[in-house]
Amino acid sequence: MPDLLLVGAGHAHLYVVKHAGELGAAGYRVQLLAPRYFDYSGVASATAAGALDSEAGRIDVRALVGVSGVDFHEGTLESLDPEARIAITSDGVRLSYDVLSVNIGSVVAPAGIHVHPTVLRVKPLSGLADLDVRLRNSARSSAATVTVVGGGATGLELATHLAVRRDVALVRLVESGATVGADLPAGARKRMGRLLAARGVDLRTGCVVRDIGERQLVCDDGTEISHDVALLATGLSAPPLLAELGLGDENGVPVRATLQHVDRDEVYAVGDCARFLPGPLPRIGVHGVRQGPVLQRSLLARLRGECLPVYQPQRRALSILDLGDGVGLAVRGRWWWYGAGPLRLKRFIDRRWLRRYREGGSPVRQKWSSR
Ligand SMILES: Cc1cc2nc3c(=O)[nH]c(=O)nc-3n(C[C@H](O)[C@H](O)[C@H](O)COP(=O)(O)OP(=O)(O)OC[C@H]3O[C@@H](n4cnc5c(N)ncnc54)[C@H](O)[C@@H]3O)c2cc1C
Repeated sequence: MPDLLLVGAGHAHLYVVKHAGELGAAGYRVQLLAPRYFDYSGVASATAAGALDSEAGRIDVRALVGVSGVDFHEGTLESLDPEARIAITSDGVRLSYDVLSVNIGSVVAPAGIHVHPTVLRVKPLSGLADLDVRLRNSARSSAATVTVVGGGATGLELATHLAVRRDVALVRLVESGATVGADLPAGARKRMGRLLAARGVDLRTGCVVRDIGERQLVCDDGTEISHDVALLATGLSAPPLLAELGLGDENGVPVRATLQHVDRDEVYAVGDCARFLPGPLPRIGVHGVRQGPVLQRSLLARLRGECLPVYQPQRRALSILDLGDGVGLAVRGRWWWYGAGPLRLKRFIDRRWLRRYREGGSPVRQKWSSR
């Protein structure tokens, strides 16, 4: 019986776990090494900013595994011996494998900035989850000043959300480039500019941040900006663990179109932690979601000695930003749509996806209390 070890319960692996019966029937013994809870990033800005309940995006991985026939090891991967094909968990347990698949997500790329440990990072999401708690439990007598560093999609979501919180006096959005939302179509970018102005966000572009301390940040030109809470949203990179394991670098595990490691047929990597060699992929959830069924088919095909399927990314993906206060921005290629409709569509898509992995007795309740 070949041992299949899934490391991390990211989007693709949740799909494989859900369909693990098929793998078991084909002859695999399936093991999953992952933390107990998976937090869905589609609602992460809203939960972090306190607009949705903190558990709105939570999936109980143990409950999902419960009926699937998968052996669940709660923990994280600490080290790996690729020659002996042994993975060592955070509890020191040694798990041997014949086939390994890695789906451990991403972390914030620090972009050469010196960052104080109190600064919140948008990824892993466990760190971002502290934002609401930090704002609510603060010993400050007055409302907080929050600085968001990075004007990409996540920075925009968080800045716009925080700007409508009563306990936040001022939101600053600091961006090194000439504009925020640089990837957005021109019209959508202008619309975002008007929204930020209307919500009183203090926008600082062309400001290359060098150092973020507990209470202030310093830019390359010497400008100092003070804050009560700072959030680092400077893009995503692969976890440093991959380099430590010898599986890849900050760009991810190099994989072929089959999602297999470039040099190791028995190692797969999917989602944000993979570097897709046929062409760079943005670190967005849709790739992890769509790679799940490809990985599943590949695992079955290799047992049967069949040709392995390849992942063919779609050229354009729909992305919807949650901008707080009931509005969103949907973008696909050059097309965009702003208002309440996009946010309703996003909530519908997100709930439908979450429901798939919560069926089967998860004790985490679905709470969607939009404020
Ligand atoms: C605030 C925010 C909002 C976002 N919103 C969107 C959005 O609306 N739409 C979108 O498409 N993308 C969004 N993204 C991007 C999105 O988060 C990623 O592209 C997506 O989560 C990648 O999925 P994944 O399955 O690769 O990894 P993840 O979803 O990150 O899952 C990886 C899992 O692996 C676990 N793990 C980590 N390390 C280990 C280890 N050593 N051992 C075992 N397990 C481990 C983690 O706990 C996690 O559960 C957002 C990102 C952020 C930061």
